[in-house]
Amino acid sequence: MDASEIERVAVLGAGNMGHGITEVVAIAGYDVTMRDVEQEFVDSGYEDIEWSLDKLDEKDRIDESADEVLDRIDTTTDLETAVGDVDLVIEAAPERMALKQEIYGELDDLTPDEAILASNTSSLSITEIATAVEDPERVVGTHFFNPPVKMDLVEVIYGERTSDETADAAHDFVESLDKTPIYVRKDVQGFVVNSVLGPFMVEPAWMVSNGEATIQEADAAMVHQRGYPMGPFELGDLTGIDIGYSVREEAGIENPPLIEEKVEAEELGRKTGKGYYDYEEGDGPDYEQDDGEGFDTLRVEAQMVNEAAKLIGNDVATAEAIDTGMRLGAGFPEGPCRRADDIGLDRILEKLEALHDETGEERFAPADHLVELVENGQTGADAGQGFYSHGDGDDRTYHDLNYEIDDRGVLAIELDRPERLNALSRDLLDEIDHLLSTTDPDEIRCVTIEGTGERAFSAGADVTGFADTEPADVLRATPTYETVAEFPRPVVAKIEGYCLGGGHELALACDMRIATEGSTFGQPEIGLGLIPGGGATQRLTRLVGAARAKELVFRGHQIDAATAADWGMINRAVPGDELDDAVEEVVSDIVNGPPVGLEVAKKVMNEGADADLDAALTLERQGFSILMGTDDVAEGTAAFREDRDPEFEGR
Ligand code: NAD
Repeated sequence: MDASEIERVAVLGAGNMGHGITEVVAIAGYDVTMRDVEQEFVDSGYEDIEWSLDKLDEKDRIDESADEVLDRIDTTTDLETAVGDVDLVIEAAPERMALKQEIYGELDDLTPDEAILASNTSSLSITEIATAVEDPERVVGTHFFNPPVKMDLVEVIYGERTSDETADAAHDFVESLDKTPIYVRKDVQGFVVNSVLGPFMVEPAWMVSNGEATIQEADAAMVHQRGYPMGPFELGDLTGIDIGYSVREEAGIENPPLIEEKVEAEELGRKTGKGYYDYEEGDGPDYEQDDGEGFDTLRVEAQMVNEAAKLIGNDVATAEAIDTGMRLGAGFPEGPCRRADDIGLDRILEKLEALHDETGEERFAPADHLVELVENGQTGADAGQGFYSHGDGDDRTYHDLNYEIDDRGVLAIELDRPERLNALSRDLLDEIDHLLSTTDPDEIRCVTIEGTGERAFSAGADVTGFADTEPADVLRATPTYETVAEFPRPVVAKIEGYCLGGGHELALACDMRIATEGSTFGQPEIGLGLIPGGGATQRLTRLVGAARAKELVFRGHQIDAATAADWGMINRAVPGDELDDAVEEVVSDIVNGPPVGLEVAKKVMNEGADADLDAALTLERQGFSILMGTDDVAEGTAAFREDRDPEFEGR
């Protein structure tokens, strides 16, 4: 079965995950039947979907009305009605192997032979589930994260006998839901995200159990020094301390005494009012920014990297898949492999070896793949090669942006950190800089820059959590804005959603800005006691005049797209569904225009803006005379005479 052949979907289970998955599948345009064992469970799941769709509709996050989406959802308690003529079943029943196998046994009898059977299990073996089916090749894991409507990631998991055809179809189906799939090529315990997340939760608990740290120190350090969205203990309280405890117990992994004590005392986190923090008598997490000083963050991160190296070495997942998984599935600021390359794999290996020698604990034993990389000299960014290639050549892999060059020579760049509203990390700025600096402008006629997701072009610079960021590190990023501004081809910013701070400065470095009416613009830095650092104080002033620029910078307020258009900050604001066409109109004029003429126009206009009028007019005259001798001008004038469209060659 190919993903394009999937039309009818059944979701089994109307609980937390089942109703959310049903909603996502229906939003994407599929007909879907949600089945649970009792009418009351079906009804309750359906009501949850109605509530959620109304919210999405209110916020304009769905293209249709809530009712139109609901029209595609059927419910039933009868299994045969649900799955009799489906192409895909997504099972989201309770996490018990015996129950899942019973369900798959029934599915074997009731579903068409070609139908794909996908389980949303978060910890059970796909291989074992598939033994209940005659043809295990059609069984696959599709692990959605909670809540499915909000979380972008889906792990697509192979059982031992899953066919590539099935896994690829599941992968493409997930993409058709506008979610991001990652392949997990073996159904190892915890798959990718929970495997790597394990040490993040457990190692700090060992350190506290051993009297080497406090809960507050660990949480403060991981959040404020290392940029994780939550500390390990805060996260444990949120997800339930007993959940991770039982998963580890079943997998034969020892739980640290601290976790055992909490489970015994039934202090399981937020749901019981008390866990590592007190939510009834206290106010929950009570750590302060400075509490983390002295906490050994490398000990925790080295083990996450070690887990990642095991997954790569055992062909379970690629470094890219792991990093994507941790960013989208766990909200990590960057993937562990990317981060490891910056820290240095040799340093990480040394740390693990030292801890292993010191404690004799198996969990510190370095993964073979990590040892191999270090032995090969692939120690990370400084060496030009680690988990990733960091060379300046063409072989560099980008993590935070996507790009493609079409046959007209349009270089389309997407800022790809939707989970952070495409905030500009140092890596992302560096990748933009590298891409534009290494692309041959002769191959390009126009560049477009946009954000992924529909919520933001880019919501600003991402320095969250890095209390130890030095001003010099931030300034290191600034050449990117100049690289964009000076790129010898026109650059168009395609803006949808937030365009703020550093993100707005990136748009200001472009030549033209076209935005949806719902977009918002601003320079909020003053609220942090800062000023813009990517050119806004100057480019904005030149664009809209000192009064308006100062208003934006001094007050830090946001303005809407209509005001931005009125002020001349953007070329125009268009309805959301007209953005593609509006940008295409501009791009198609540019790609059919004379490349050299456009290059000279951009240069003369940019440089002239910073010169006095006489000097600027001289620049213009020089540019004009350079162009007079070009083939393109000969072609342009000939075409004018002959009343046809010119064909410019860029000479
Ligand atoms: P849940 O308990 O909220 O919902 C499960 C539903 O399945 C219940 O309504 C139950 O009545 C129904 N059910 C029982 N037997 C059934 C059957 N034979 N056919 C159809 N429905 C049946 O559980 P959940 O949190 O939605 O978890 C479902 C699955 O998703 C589990 O495998 C779980 O591990 C996985 N998962 C959960 C989360 C999470 O955060 N909750 C995240 C990812 C994956």
